[in-house]
Amino acid sequence: VRWTADELRQAYIDFFVSKGHAHKPGSSLVPKNDPTILLTAAGMVQFKPFFMGTETPDVRRVTTFQRCLRTADIDHVGYTDRHGTFFEMLGNFSFGDYFKEDAIRWAWEFVTERMQLPREKLWATIYMDDDEAFRIWHEQVALPGDRIVRLGKESNFWEIGVGPCGPCSEIYYDRGEAHGCGQETCAPGCECDRFLEIWNLVFIQFYQDEHGNLTPLEQTGIDTGMGLERTAAVLQGVSSIFEVDLVRPILDEVARMAGVRYGEDPGRDVSLRVIADHVRGVVFMVFDGILPGNEGRGYVLRRLLRRAALHGRLLGLSEPFLATVADRVVEQMKQGYPELVGQREHIRQVLAWEERRFAETLDQGMGLLEEALDEAQGRGEKALDGERVFRLYDTYGFPPELTREMAAARGLEVDESGFQAHMEAQRMRARSAREEMGYLGKRGVELYRDLSREVPPSRFTGYDRLEDEAQVL
Ligand code: ATP
Ligand code: MG
Ligand code: MG
Ligand code: MG
Repeated sequence: VRWTADELRQAYIDFFVSKGHAHKPGSSLVPKNDPTILLTAAGMVQFKPFFMGTETPDVRRVTTFQRCLRTADIDHVGYTDRHGTFFEMLGNFSFGDYFKEDAIRWAWEFVTERMQLPREKLWATIYMDDDEAFRIWHEQVALPGDRIVRLGKESNFWEIGVGPCGPCSEIYYDRGEAHGCGQETCAPGCECDRFLEIWNLVFIQFYQDEHGNLTPLEQTGIDTGMGLERTAAVLQGVSSIFEVDLVRPILDEVARMAGVRYGEDPGRDVSLRVIADHVRGVVFMVFDGILPGNEGRGYVLRRLLRRAALHGRLLGLSEPFLATVADRVVEQMKQGYPELVGQREHIRQVLAWEERRFAETLDQGMGLLEEALDEAQGRGEKALDGERVFRLYDTYGFPPELTREMAAARGLEVDESGFQAHMEAQRMRARSAREEMGYLGKRGVELYRDLSREVPPSRFTGYDRLEDEAQVL
C-alpha cells in the first residue's frame, strides 16, 4: 500500500485515540504565554507547563499533529534528505499516566503492524545507561541486541537545565548502503542519510537540580515526536522529505516556473528544495500571525522569505513567484489545515510585498556593485576589495554569493580573506552585543546573518550553529 502523508497523519491520530488518547489541535507556531521560545519546534511545546508541573492537564493522554519550525536546521536544508526548517511532528503524550513500556510497545506496534515497515530494517537508539529501555526493546519487542544502539547525552537525553528531564529512545529506518556515507562506523546517529531517524520517544523521569543532580520524579511523562515527512518518505519509497506527496508538487511548481526539472542538476535541486521548504514555513508563519520584520519572529520570516527569493534568482526566476508557490502550499496542506484557505489572500499579499521590497534591495545593491566592478576594472585590479563586498552585504543586505557570481562574470575575483576578516569582526561585535541582551534579542541577533552563507555549504565552516529550540526550552 502506498500511504499519502494525509493518510499517515490521520492514521497516527486514530491509532493513539484507539489507545485512549484525546486528539488535541496542534498549537500555533507562536508559543502562547512563553516568551522564552521563539517558535514552536516540537509537539511538546504547548504541553511544557504540564511536564513542568506548573499546570494540571484535564486529560492525561493526548495526541496531536504539530506544525514545527526549526531555524536551527536551516544550514541543512537542501543538502540533507531529511531536514526542513518546516515540518510536521506527530506526537503522543502522557502526563503522569503511562510510561516507557507502553510508549515503546505502541510505537513498535504502529510502525510494524499499522505501517507494516519491515522489522529487519528498524533500529532503536537508547540512552547509554537506560537498561530499562534496552530490556523493553530486547525482551518485549524482540529487537535484536545488535540493532539497539547506546548513544550519549548529546542526542539521547532531553533536558532544559533545572527541571524535568530524561533519556530518549529513537527509532531509525535503514534505507540501505546506497544512501550512506559508506564508512564502517555508519550506524544510527551517523550524520549521513542512510539511517533515517523517524521517531523520538522521550521518557521524562528525573528532576535535575541546579547542581545537575537527578532525582526520580513521582509523576513521569512521555513526549514523542514522529516526523511526518520523513516517515512518509519511507512509506512512499522516495529518497527525501522533498519528494513526498505533500512537498513534491510545490517543488515541481517552482521547477515549472523556472523552466527546469528536479533531479537534473545538483545545484538547482538545492535551490528547489530550499524554496519548497522555506515557502512552506513562511506560509504557516503568516497563517499564525507573524509579519516580516527586523527582529525576533519577524526576522526569521523575512530571512526565510528572502532566502527563497534569492534561490529563485539563482534559478533564473526574474519575476515575483513566491505568491504562486504559496498557493500551491495551501493546496497541499488544506486537508490537514482547512483554515489555511481563508487566509490565502492575506498570505499571498504579505509574500508579494516582501518579495518586492527585497527585489528593490537587490536592484540597489546591483547598481552599487556595477560601480565597484567598473572602478576595479578601471584600475586594472584582479579582485574586488573585500570591504566593498562586506559593505554591500552588511548595509544593503546584498548576498555575497551574488557578488561573487557577478564579479566572476566580469573575470574578477573577490578578495575573500578581506571579506572574511570583516565578517569575523562583525561576528565579534554581534557576540558582545548578544551578551548584553535577553533571550529573544539574542536570538534575533543570532539570526541576523548572511542570507546566502550556505551557497556553497563548505564556505562558512567557522559558524557555530544555533541549538535546537526544542532542546533549549
Ligand atoms: P536529526 O537528528 O535527524 O536532526 P532530531 O533528533 O533533531 O533529528 P527530534 O528533535 O528528535 O529530531 O524531533 C523528533 C522527530 O522530528 C525526528 O525523529 C524527525 O522524524 C523529525 N524531525 C526533526 N527535525 C526535523 C527536520 N529538520 N525536518 C524534518 N523532520 C524533522
Ligand atoms: Mg536535529
Ligand atoms: Mg537525532
Ligand atoms: Mg531525535
